[in-house]
Amino acid sequence: MNCLEERIVKDGIVKEGNVLKVDSFLNHQMDIELFDRMGAEFKARFAEKPINKILTIEASGIGIACVVAQHFHVPVVFAKKSKSINLEGEMLVAEVESFTHKCSNRVIVAKKFLGPDDHVLIIDDFLANGCALQGLIQIVQSAGATVEGIGIAIEKGFQAGGRMIRNLGFQLESLAIVESMDARTGEIVFREQ
Ligand code: 5GP
Repeated sequence: MNCLEERIVKDGIVKEGNVLKVDSFLNHQMDIELFDRMGAEFKARFAEKPINKILTIEASGIGIACVVAQHFHVPVVFAKKSKSINLEGEMLVAEVESFTHKCSNRVIVAKKFLGPDDHVLIIDDFLANGCALQGLIQIVQSAGATVEGIGIAIEKGFQAGGRMIRNLGFQLESLAIVESMDARTGEIVFREQ
């Protein structure tokens, strides 16, 4: 069991509706030393890739992405969730369905921060149905940039996103893959990696 899996077992809370709450160390209060170890692991897994930029989505991806970026020595761009498009600059736009908030968000990135020369590592906290990732991939591709890889902290392997993204041919690395979880007993089973 790796350090993220151990932490999920210790401090994660399984909620009804297939929601894993990890807000004591991942996406509300944040354990930066844990993030640092996750950054080192992503750096090892994507060592061969010419990554020059990290892309994430607000809000909970930002903290992880910033610590991961210190291992790659590259800037972080985060997609903003916005109801209205700022018409002043040119924008890359995608629609993203939110798993946790059950709504649709328009996410935007300014064109000046993502272009054909960029080799992008996408980072996010969770992968469930893959809607957030699809939106981010769409933004990278519409910029003419390259998705070099995708790094996820926690993948819920019993939802469709992971299989769908791997079937598209992307190198998707999830540090913990939850195979099953039980809100009644609190038991969490991880996929062997
Ligand atoms: P997807 O777009 O893959 O369906 O969901 C990804 C997003 O939904 C993540 O960025 C994360 O914010 C949120 N999310 C999905 N499942 C969970 C969960 O079980 N727990 C928490 N805390 N967030 C989740």
